[in-house]
Amino acid sequence: MQVYDLIVIGGGASGMVAGIAAASAGASVLIIEKNDQVGRKLKMTGNGKCNFSNSRQGRFAYCGADPDFAVRALEKFGLKETLNFFSRLGIFPYEKAGYLYPATQEAASVQGALLHRLLALGVSIQTRTSCRGFISVCRGRARYKVMAVDLDSQVRQAHFCHSLLLASGGMAAPASGSTGDGYYWAKKLGHRVISPLPALVPLKSDWPLLRKLAGLRMQAEIHLLANGREMAWDRGEIQFNRDGISGIPVLQVSRHAACALKEGISVEIRLSPLFWLTMEQRRQKLSDLLREMSEETLKECFRGILPGPLPGLLKEWTGYSPEKRAKEFDVSAKEDLIHRVLCMVIPVSRTGDYKQAQTTAGGLATEQFSSDTMESLLFPGFYAAGEVLDIDGICGGYNLQWAWTSACLAGASIAGER
Ligand SMILES: Cc1cc2nc3c(=O)[nH]c(=O)nc-3n(C[C@H](O)[C@H](O)[C@H](O)COP(=O)(O)OP(=O)(O)OC[C@H]3O[C@@H](n4cnc5c(N)ncnc54)[C@H](O)[C@@H]3O)c2cc1C
Repeated sequence: MQVYDLIVIGGGASGMVAGIAAASAGASVLIIEKNDQVGRKLKMTGNGKCNFSNSRQGRFAYCGADPDFAVRALEKFGLKETLNFFSRLGIFPYEKAGYLYPATQEAASVQGALLHRLLALGVSIQTRTSCRGFISVCRGRARYKVMAVDLDSQVRQAHFCHSLLLASGGMAAPASGSTGDGYYWAKKLGHRVISPLPALVPLKSDWPLLRKLAGLRMQAEIHLLANGREMAWDRGEIQFNRDGISGIPVLQVSRHAACALKEGISVEIRLSPLFWLTMEQRRQKLSDLLREMSEETLKECFRGILPGPLPGLLKEWTGYSPEKRAKEFDVSAKEDLIHRVLCMVIPVSRTGDYKQAQTTAGGLATEQFSSDTMESLLFPGFYAAGEVLDIDGICGGYNLQWAWTSACLAGASIAGER
């Protein structure tokens, strides 16, 4: 009976890197992956360019019940160590506004380099093999028995290992293979799982005006409010769709919307143009504009500030006719108009589903794992890494950074245990 030092369930970003980290230190490793290739989701990242980390690191970028778990792990294996790891694979960073990509700007080159190193280190990789569960055993050196099925022949397999790493990902983009299988097994083992929710996902709304705005892009600042309380904000390009809004700022605030909506709390987005000015400057700008263009209709006044059909649709979102002339407004009506133009309220009814999500909020509760090694505090030799844990990052390369950090700490610890 072969007993591997490590079996990795899931050959995604974290599973591949953990395999390299453990095998480089001499561990025997088997990776079980249900897709026909390892790193399938990795090849989709960053629109195929792979935004694999960010030069700005800190607590602000990581979410979960305990973001400090990620911060502590990053202190042990952070950006510097990640760049060294990749440079040993021949992957060098290209930086754009802090976002780090491989110099090729091709996610396939990162996946290819990881796969090449795994094979060079003699790591066994079983693709088209679906893990069906694992149990804790006590047979010689073996502490875990992993059950799997060959998806082509349907033949059942049993593998034994000293250490087991759960790297099966979350539930985002399920077509890539991550369907949340790991939560069930970890729960059965006795681990606590924080209910997963889609994150980095578009927001959906039944606001009727959206049908007329579909396709419009706008530079704006957005604030997400739950029960009237501000939860998050961001700025940048917003896209209007028939059934909601998307764009990076929307993805950035989406996890807060998902959590509030799950609790039945009402959520809205407040959207404002001219975000490079302070709110006071924005008010002043519109006030000056209405004074200087007092003979013009509102539609003309706002043509240079609001993109697309927005000026012509003013009545529908501010209550004021776009054909009314600026001079017809008294002081208080003018103030009200300015407030409404600077604060478009979009009610949020739900988030997009996992198919549209880039990551998963929630997962295995980190309080039951060591932030130094990613080993379970309940079951020796049981580890978890990547998105399956209750850590999610904001846009900008932080989810992959979390995958690398957690995987390298786990791989090194497992190899050190031999
Ligand atoms: C479209 C898209 C773009 C993204 N872009 C970025 C980006 O640019 N930067 C960034 O930082 N993050 C990005 N992310 C997020 C990032 O890809 C993930 O957070 C990261 O891949 C998580 O790594 P992981 O190893 O934990 O899980 P995954 O990469 O999801 O890997 C899990 C693996 O486990 C396998 N698996 C699951 N269950 C089983 C089973 N039962 N048996 C066998 N195998 C199994 C799956 O097939 C999968 O290959 C993006 C995500 C998406 C969807």
